[in-house]
Order: sequence, then structure tokens, then C-alpha cells
Amino acid sequence: MTVNGPVSPALMGKTLEHEHILVDFIGADKTGYFRWDKNKVIEKALPFVLDAKKNGVRTIVECTPAYLGRDPLLLKELSQKTGLNIITNTGYYGARNNLFIPNNFYSSEADEIADLWINEFNNGIEGSGIKPGFIKISVDPADTLSTEHRKIITAAALAHLKTGLIIASHTGPEKPAFEQISILKNHGVDPSAFIWVHAQRGTIEKIIEAAKSGAWISLDNIRNRTNLEPGAPNSIDWYADRIIELKKQGLLDKVLISHDSGYYDPSKPDGGEFSGFTDIFEFLLPDLKSKGLTDNEIEQILVKNPQEAFKIKIRTLDL
Ligand SMILES: [Zn+2]
Repeated sequence: MTVNGPVSPALMGKTLEHEHILVDFIGADKTGYFRWDKNKVIEKALPFVLDAKKNGVRTIVECTPAYLGRDPLLLKELSQKTGLNIITNTGYYGARNNLFIPNNFYSSEADEIADLWINEFNNGIEGSGIKPGFIKISVDPADTLSTEHRKIITAAALAHLKTGLIIASHTGPEKPAFEQISILKNHGVDPSAFIWVHAQRGTIEKIIEAAKSGAWISLDNIRNRTNLEPGAPNSIDWYADRIIELKKQGLLDKVLISHDSGYYDPSKPDGGEFSGFTDIFEFLLPDLKSKGLTDNEIEQILVKNPQEAFKIKIRTLDL
């Protein structure tokens, strides 16, 4: 489900599964569309999106949630200007101590929150007619989920069962990842409905375990960091080694990759510095090829896996 309506998964092509065009970190009670000028954001983002297109990208999944700078009309315009599919989301972002959670959340039950998200899927976001293509949530990286964050993942489970939208959860370490997977299962939702966002912060053993359970492993934030030695955590080489390890385990069909890059920041002059969407093509893919990954395996990660993950499909546990 793109900002221009439904698209056959076969037409998604190369997909960047976690990027940002705009992020506004000011907080749920202070943000709003008045904070940025859509034309200026488009002017700034356009060359970077076109660079991605030159590298063969056909779909960008924009992961900025509501109350954090989600702007469906802006994304629709950018999609029409570039010819790329862009996917937006519904859901609430709990990390950073609920700074980006609206006040009505606290007095609502999980099913009432889920109803808001389901309504966006059925009727479009804020009267725009633009529908979300996935549920984006987030939890803090604590060893146990807070009451609020248990409510968020519960709402996501309920919304998934009604909409078939995949749940991408900004998570990080493994403990909150597995706790969320377990809550999903308690609601009859299969782990394959869950994308463990920022899974690079988990150990390789736990990543393998999660992938074996069916969850999607999002290795995002892939950027060429020139200050890092090869092999250092978060270097291109380090990401490539993790992907090779997942290949050895026969789990390449659960791997998603992206830059988690961008974006226009309304609190900075002229939106601040925008990081592009091409390091995967310039640096990671050559490294992966030199380590033995085939073109078919790269296509698996960049085309087939996003097709399957972002397919609208209710994934229930076979009980
Ligand atoms: Zn992100």
C-alpha cells in the first residue's frame, strides 16, 4: 500500500525498507504541519531520492511515525515527482520515554489505540485518502517493556489481525525484541508479522534465533562511516559479515537492509544536513559480492524480502 494506493508486490522492485524524508523531534505536543514548508522539504530531499532511483531503487519505505513528522501529502508529492513508490505508516513511537506519544494514549486501552490505526488503514490518514502500508511502532531499549510499550505492541497485534499490515518496531536490543514477539504470539500473531528494527544492536545468536522463529531482521543504519576501521561495529564490513553469517544459517530470506538515513529536520536551518540513500549500493553490495554473495541473493534481500514483508496479509499462528 503506497501513498498513491495499492501496488502489486511484483512492482515494488528494489526497496529501501527504512528511510526518512522528514523527522521532527520536538515532541507530540509541539509538532504539526505548520513546522515545515512542504516545498522546501521536497526541494531538499528530491536529489537524494533521485540518486537512489539511479541505483535502481523503486520503493522507499518512509518510517517516520505520526507525531514525529509523518506527512503523507508531502510523501505523495515526492512520489509523484520521482516516480518512486513511497510507503507511509500508522502507529505510535514509544521510544525516548514517550515524548512522541499523544496525550490521549494514556487514557485509552490497547483496542482503542488499535482502532485509530485500523481507521487510518480503512479510511485514510486525516482525510487525505492516503493509507498506511505498515504499522510503525517503537519501544525503549529496556530489559523489560514498560506498561505503555506493552500497550503499544498489543495495539499493533490487534491492528495487524484486522489489517494484515506488517509491524515494524524500532527496538534495538534483543530483550525487548523477544518480549514483543511473545506478546504478538499471545494474541495469535505469527512472528513473521514483526520486523525487528535496528536488529544490528542484538547479538548474532539472538538475531539468528529471532529469524528462525520467522521474524524479519532489519539491519538498518547502514552507512559508510569513514572513521571506522573495517570490522568495527557498524562498519560496512561488520554489516556484511552479519549478512554472510545469516546466509550460512540459511536465513537470508529473513533479512532486510536499509540506511535509516535522510532527513529534513525542521528545527535546523534549511533542514540541516541530509544524508543520502546510496551507501548500500556504493559500499555494502561490493563488499558482499567480494565475500561471495550472488546477484540472486542480493535480489532476495533488496527485492523479494521487502515484497513478502510489506505484502498485506494477516499472519496468524498455526495453533
Ligand atoms: Zn529510522
